[in-house]
Amino acid sequence: MKCALCDNHFDSRPVEHYDGFDLYHCPNCDLQFWHPMQNPDAEWYSQEYVLRDRAGIDKLFWNTRRFLAHPPIDKGELLDVGCGIGMFLDQARFLGFEVTGLDFDKAALEMAKKRYGLSDLHAMDLLQFGKVFPDRRFDIITMFEVLEHLDNPGQTLQQARDMLRLGGWLVLSVPNRNKWFPGRDLADYPPHHFTRWSRESLWFALRYCGFANVVVEIGPVTWTSHTMPWLTYALRFHKPKRYLMKFLPPPLIMTKPLRTDILVSCFRFLRDLRDVFLCIPAYLLAVMLRIAGQQGSGLYAVGQRPGMNTDG
Ligand SMILES: [Zn+2]
Repeated sequence: MKCALCDNHFDSRPVEHYDGFDLYHCPNCDLQFWHPMQNPDAEWYSQEYVLRDRAGIDKLFWNTRRFLAHPPIDKGELLDVGCGIGMFLDQARFLGFEVTGLDFDKAALEMAKKRYGLSDLHAMDLLQFGKVFPDRRFDIITMFEVLEHLDNPGQTLQQARDMLRLGGWLVLSVPNRNKWFPGRDLADYPPHHFTRWSRESLWFALRYCGFANVVVEIGPVTWTSHTMPWLTYALRFHKPKRYLMKFLPPPLIMTKPLRTDILVSCFRFLRDLRDVFLCIPAYLLAVMLRIAGQQGSGLYAVGQRPGMNTDG
């Protein structure tokens, strides 16, 4: 088997099987990746994120809040890959960055324009963007919870390095495969996610793709993005939502929003109901896990394109 990141050839059995996919573990870079690796198309993502894109149900998680509290530089041109409906870009612009967003989900970008008045948005991935705008350079590129979705993580990281000005920063987050999570995290399987990262593999990946001053932090156990999802799965609170999603029309042909609006109200009600029931247990569990020294659900990394802080 050939590693999806470091091109190391190794000979070992898969460590897990799931729905026609095999999970391999590269002994050289510590990355785990699913085989076969094939990204679903934009339509699949539009369907998967239809609630976020149509109803604007979104929030800032620990990773984007971590960035906004302590960005590596405080102004300049920022490119966010996988910007979704643009909530993070709106906040980054408020801090003083000139912002550009990429997401191959067109519905999400429409929502970003309508809701936040963002304009420099492009429905493409980073490699396509580099081809269409070969001369554009940025001071910061952010990729929150993007890398694990990709079938070409190394190529995307190298592209990000090339699109940074010398001395520019890449900031990203991915799920932490060593997080506390008894049982299966259903959101962490293909075709949703294709790679599983540890602190070591993420550090290796950034160094391997040409970044300097790489730091990888293990995120804290949070009740919003860690213990709440665990309780949701453990207590089967995700079942009614999955059932309701069957009634959503395909997003690309969605025209009359009336029936969808009723469904969206149902989704919001379900979410609020879950939050009321689970917020206190989720919070207490997060406190206990922190005291016990458990790892949080995410990894947060920064790396710098080597060179002077000028465009060369
Ligand atoms: Zn490898």
